[in-house]
Amino acid sequence: MANYAYRDKERRYIILANEALEEDRNKSFYCPNPRCNSKLFICAVDGCRKTYFRATKSAYKHIANCPYANSAVIFDDNEYNRATFSFENAIQNLLVENNSKPVMSDSKSTSCGEYINHTLRTIRQIYSMCKQFPPNYSYGNEKIGKMILDDRTAYWYPKGVFGFKIIESCVNGRFYDNDKNEIYLVAPIANPNYHFILSIPDINLYRKIRNMVFENKDKFIIVAGQWNSSKADGRTIKSIIHSNKQITII
Ligand SMILES: [Zn+2]
Repeated sequence: MANYAYRDKERRYIILANEALEEDRNKSFYCPNPRCNSKLFICAVDGCRKTYFRATKSAYKHIANCPYANSAVIFDDNEYNRATFSFENAIQNLLVENNSKPVMSDSKSTSCGEYINHTLRTIRQIYSMCKQFPPNYSYGNEKIGKMILDDRTAYWYPKGVFGFKIIESCVNGRFYDNDKNEIYLVAPIANPNYHFILSIPDINLYRKIRNMVFENKDKFIIVAGQWNSSKADGRTIKSIIHSNKQITII
């Protein structure tokens, strides 16, 4: 499911689900994933005014491995306060080892997500937000394309992926080294020409993450890191993993 789509196959004209007009109801649109050939239609969430794009026709489903086929990428913009979101602070919080409770106020929730005003906090929330806005859009203090490496944004990173970023990655072949406490992933999914090394000094955390990746080798591995070049080629990039909050499976 997607909060946005494109009117044209070249993906020049974006349409946001919440800005769709009545006349768009029966039209088909193109998936945010540039490699996906599905046809998307506007649908409403039951009981809410909220709308989103879905591949409702069986002949035009999302391709295998399209993130927008996954309901885990759903993001309700009304639930979170954009103004208080700082990407760098959010990622830094994920890199903190201990489980000190973040300061958050409890808010009442409605099934439609109205009147809620949290700030994005978990990697899952931040990832879903990144997937549901076009790369050129800004959220909080940063552009989407600067927050996430995926198939949509790969062209933003011709020289490598450095600093605080989220990567949408997967397993390709041998994915761990027990002597080095390292996990190996590749990204972006459709054209995985970057190699990522997760260096995990804590042996218990290493084993936990290795087992989690092992059990989900066919899924997307989403990682928040502070990335540095590991080899001169700029294609091998490493981050220390301090906390399992840095990783989620989609
Ligand atoms: Zn798709």
